[in-house]
Amino acid sequence: MRTLRAVGRLVVASHNGGKVREIDALLRPFGVEPVSVAALDLPEPEETGTTFHANALLKALSATDGSGLPALADDSGLMVDALGGEPGVYTANWAEVDGGRDWALAMRRVEERLAALGPEASRAAQFVCTLVVAWPDGEERAFEGRCHGSLVWPPRGERGFGYDPMFVPDGYAETFGEMDPALKHRISHRAEAFGKLVAELF
Ligand code: IMP
Repeated sequence: MRTLRAVGRLVVASHNGGKVREIDALLRPFGVEPVSVAALDLPEPEETGTTFHANALLKALSATDGSGLPALADDSGLMVDALGGEPGVYTANWAEVDGGRDWALAMRRVEERLAALGPEASRAAQFVCTLVVAWPDGEERAFEGRCHGSLVWPPRGERGFGYDPMFVPDGYAETFGEMDPALKHRISHRAEAFGKLVAELF
């Protein structure tokens, strides 16, 4: 079976600096040298998929095709039960405004949609992360992680990013925005997906 042991260089197929740093820190202890798509001047493909897996796969395939090296991509988002799983793969789009992303606005959009359902609506939600590793010969492996929790209003905490200030993971009282980042990184959707990747590929 394919592994990443002794693979040497691996392309990290993300233009998001925060994600690249997180993935970098994870891979270095395994003797892998992560190279970013930005460093290789590779283009950012349009995320046209309708699932996390489809979007992670198209990013990983684009990076492995463009570099001739194995590539790792991540796609993630927030799924709200009472909204039928929205914003889901469109999580980042809900923050889009002219000239950038406004996360306070994105959280308010979620809250307004929930409020419109009335006070009895479930506030359960989950963060989902799919990681895909693709090799130049077309082989691919996918790993999914989930973190279940509930949404609070108003948002609390300055320590996270994205929707962190309104998400309280099950079993905890603090939002991801208030929590020590080291704890978030142990219990998050991304941590679960990485755990599965490490178990299988290293
Ligand atoms: P992607 O870059 O297309 O995968 O977009 C994922 C989006 O989901 C991010 O821009 C964040 O807004 C949101 N997201 C994913 N993971 C987290 C998290 O751990 N905390 C808060 N927001 C997250």
